[in-house]
Amino acid sequence: MAMQQREVGVRDFVLLEQITMDKFMENLKKRFHSGSIYTYIGEVCVSMNPYRQINIYGPETIKIYKGRELFENPPHIYAIADAAYKILKQRHQDTCILISGESGAGKTEASKIIMKYIAAITNVHGQNEIERVKNVLIQSNSILETFGNAKTNRNDNSSRFGKYMDIEFDYKGDPVGGIITNYLLEKSRVVQQQSGERNFHCFYQLLRGASDMELHRYDLIKDTSRYHYMNQGSMDALSEKSDYKSTNIAFKTLGFTNEEVQTIWSTIAAILHLGNIEFQSNEDDLTISNKTHLQSASNLLQVTENELSNSLTKRTIAAGGNVMLKEHDATQAEYGKDALAKAIYDRLFTWVISRINRAILFRGTKNQARFNSVIGVLDIYGFEIFDSNSFEQFCINYCNEKLQQLFIELVLKQEQEEYQREGIEWTNIEYFNNKIICDLIEQPHKGMIAIMDEACLSVGKVNDETLLGAMDKNLSTHPHYSSRQLKPIDKELQHRVDFRITHYAGDVIYNINGFIEKNKDTLYQDFKRLLHHSKNVNLSEMWPEGAQDIKKTTKRPLTAGTLFQRSMIDLVNTLLKKEPFYVRCIKPNDIKSATVFDDDRVQHQVRYLGLLENVRVRRAGFVHRQRYDKFLLRYKMISQYTWPNFHAGSDKDGVRVLIEEKGFGNDVKYGHTKVFIRSPNTLFTLEQQRNEMI
Ligand code: ADP
Ligand code: MG
Repeated sequence: MAMQQREVGVRDFVLLEQITMDKFMENLKKRFHSGSIYTYIGEVCVSMNPYRQINIYGPETIKIYKGRELFENPPHIYAIADAAYKILKQRHQDTCILISGESGAGKTEASKIIMKYIAAITNVHGQNEIERVKNVLIQSNSILETFGNAKTNRNDNSSRFGKYMDIEFDYKGDPVGGIITNYLLEKSRVVQQQSGERNFHCFYQLLRGASDMELHRYDLIKDTSRYHYMNQGSMDALSEKSDYKSTNIAFKTLGFTNEEVQTIWSTIAAILHLGNIEFQSNEDDLTISNKTHLQSASNLLQVTENELSNSLTKRTIAAGGNVMLKEHDATQAEYGKDALAKAIYDRLFTWVISRINRAILFRGTKNQARFNSVIGVLDIYGFEIFDSNSFEQFCINYCNEKLQQLFIELVLKQEQEEYQREGIEWTNIEYFNNKIICDLIEQPHKGMIAIMDEACLSVGKVNDETLLGAMDKNLSTHPHYSSRQLKPIDKELQHRVDFRITHYAGDVIYNINGFIEKNKDTLYQDFKRLLHHSKNVNLSEMWPEGAQDIKKTTKRPLTAGTLFQRSMIDLVNTLLKKEPFYVRCIKPNDIKSATVFDDDRVQHQVRYLGLLENVRVRRAGFVHRQRYDKFLLRYKMISQYTWPNFHAGSDKDGVRVLIEEKGFGNDVKYGHTKVFIRSPNTLFTLEQQRNEMI
């Protein structure tokens, strides 16, 4: 096979002569330059973004990997997908594939490749309903990307939300449904973009892809520079024209009604009009100066102009059973308007996903589904260190701490525990357990999220700096926390408002400014009522809490930090129940080049993904292990003593006889229930001999 001849370096990092960073990097680099972008660490797949199309995903390749074992072919993400699928099909056990890596490392591409592989190897009988489900699963990506992805300086098609998708299979192993869960959309992008970056794709698709007639309906013009929410960063064109068509086709495939599609595009247009509304304050009076946009926005949201204008310029205050109106000042009005735009978009996004889920039709709760199992695919934001890091990076990096913790639990710890359980001699490998950092962030009452919540809920005058003071007071002894206020001599921390968390992946300095606001994530009640009372039923449905009586003191909504923490805990619990596979994505450089291997950048990622530790644990151990009965079943034909059956003792005895006959005695250890093989060469040889026999 051509692919095999071109392969350089070792397929599995455990085969390196020495486990050092240099050797690791050398192997990665060699393989990257020769187009072997996948390399294993045991069952973990390390994936380098090639930044070019490589011809390794076609139908012939699928055939090579279908139903085969990991070690039989060159490393490929297909083999991982197949391994997950095999467990599901043979053992009816839930599995998951966890894809991690920083922005632009290839996570989303990997998740799509996995889905396409699964689609290709299932439904061999071509049943209509299953074909429909497969189609829906694949088309759902295009909608998710339209509304959840944006051009950033790191990635032209960067996912600005986390995604976890369960694909459900019937007992025969055909996909019958699925469900998507989304995490923390970066909604601040709706109102503000950094230089070189864009708003979410959908805005450009609408302006550049919609017909003149459609644009007229939305009171829009084609010129993106005219819209404040689109003209702050880059206005580069990607492939919007055709994408707008694809998005609408995907809506059709997924069974969105015309009204629903109308609601979506009208809402996007309304957000653009909102962005162009300006406020003028003369003395105590606040007025909206740009009335045409107010008019368009209210038409598109199907609320009256008066209602929209009122909710933008004043807010209702209920105190002691009385209700009064309080006029905003210009800053409050600006803030409220942006908060409204962000909230509308965020709700719309979640609502679109709920419609997609309805179309994919998850059957998990039905009786007949007892034998169904799922493959979960997690494509979630990687660790982020920017020049300026805020609440969003705090959440994202916390998420990565949780996932690293899961990885440690599942891969490193379980591996060591298995050796102990099997009674195999073993020296512990030191690895950094990041539980201490997870605790720093999430411990009840004491952790950072709890401290932030307390600050946000207190009625007194609390600002970001007092919050920082509270954190310093409570966390100053924590080895992973420090701040300028505590260590004024610390050169790295430049501002009094900085604090640092020593994450497992490195130090990150956060700027406290905005934490309280972002954690509170307040949206004036008036907006919720406004949108709930929209004549558009779809829109109204997105704002159920707007139905509440204003006079009733309502419970404070949960903070953004707490909501995020809860969603992370749910996610980890879901994943813990499944047999995990890992894809660790690495970005070769920051310039999207197919030829540049930036040593520093790559090494940094290798380090924080903990890949070397992973290799050490794996290598200190054994590359392959299998239960005695299974092992015998697979290889009994290669030994005269075990073929056709072994009668002179237990399965364990049979395996021992076979191994000794082949001369692999030194490479193998016998556990209580499993045989452990140290080097892959032994396995290759066994496989080869087996192939010769069958
Ligand atoms: P992430 O989701 O990790 O931020 P993406 O999956 O969006 O990154 O990948 C960023 C870009 O890198 C893609 O748009 C594509 O151009 C390129 N890329 C990633 N993986 C591959 C691959 N396997 N083959 C070819 N190009 C890839
Ligand atoms: Mg992505």
